[in-house]
Amino acid sequence: MRSHVRIDLGALRRNVRALRQAAGGSELWAVVKADGYGHGAADCGRAALDAGATALCVATLAEGLALRAALPEPRMLVLGPTGARDVTAARAARLELVAPAGDIPENVPVHVKLDTGMGRWGVSELPSPARNVVGVMTHLATADTDLAFARAQVERFRELTAALDDVTLHVANSAAALRLPEARFDAVRCGIAIYGLSPFGTDPADDGLEPVLSWHSELAQVKRLGAGDSTGYGRRFVAERETWLGIVPVGYGDGFRRDLTGTSVLVDGERRRVVGTVSMDAIAVELTREEAAGAHVTIVGDGLLLEEHALVAETITYELACGIASSPLRAEREVLGG
Ligand SMILES: *Cc1c(COP(=O)(O)O)cnc(C)c1O
Repeated sequence: MRSHVRIDLGALRRNVRALRQAAGGSELWAVVKADGYGHGAADCGRAALDAGATALCVATLAEGLALRAALPEPRMLVLGPTGARDVTAARAARLELVAPAGDIPENVPVHVKLDTGMGRWGVSELPSPARNVVGVMTHLATADTDLAFARAQVERFRELTAALDDVTLHVANSAAALRLPEARFDAVRCGIAIYGLSPFGTDPADDGLEPVLSWHSELAQVKRLGAGDSTGYGRRFVAERETWLGIVPVGYGDGFRRDLTGTSVLVDGERRRVVGTVSMDAIAVELTREEAAGAHVTIVGDGLLLEEHALVAETITYELACGIASSPLRAEREVLGG
């Protein structure tokens, strides 16, 4: 197989336990939107619940309906907006909805979203009380970068909700759950960290987290370039001297983005540089010697962090993880510890 994505649910359970510790007595809700940040929503959701998460969060009604079909029992919230004509389907699937604007859907549990500084979804004042409002929430814009602004958002949230006593208050994402104790309230909503990726773009081990996803392939072909020979579209890499090159059958069609030229992968455990233009179905790796075709290539894992690739691509692990294609048409997906 050209590409092999491995999901370690044992690691996910350990991450959830570590986050529950970090969250003090607050509930931990596992965010599994965008197919569990590319890791598989149903597998990851089930494992998170096993490890003590008490609800699952998705972004869209369709994600909620699909996840409900796989997991009949748990509490599930749809974080994004749901149109009025979809409320019946949400109710039938026992989903809880988030109301990001003034009108509160009826006969379905609703979480009112306050905009305390994100400047996106949410209202700036609490709407008049409705019996089906079970939660009030806000979302932090800078919990990973600017704790002073995050604290101001928490303060605003505290003022706006001071008079409430019988609803669930929830604010924190992964970064706040780890670094901002005053944002804990009744529940924390953790996404990125349950997958063992750092919300701060640093080594997840610093926060006691272990990567859940690893991604493997192999050298499909090994060839020697003479001085002046090039590899790939646009001849972006031209060999200055005789150079051994390994061709790995993974490209941007698999989620290995085009701006990852220059990053490293592991060939039989040793770091090797990706050179030339990333194609849809292939990348080229500069070798130090002739290697056997079939040599193991680790794209993520075995100590090589997705955070390192994110730095090269000038993006965040969230975006890289969501892009890794685990469709059976592109990759073999293996789930450990399920
Ligand atoms: C995605 C999302 C989260 C999770 O954020 P992480 O940084 O991945 O922990 C929490 N709350 C809301 C409203 C979200 O949309």
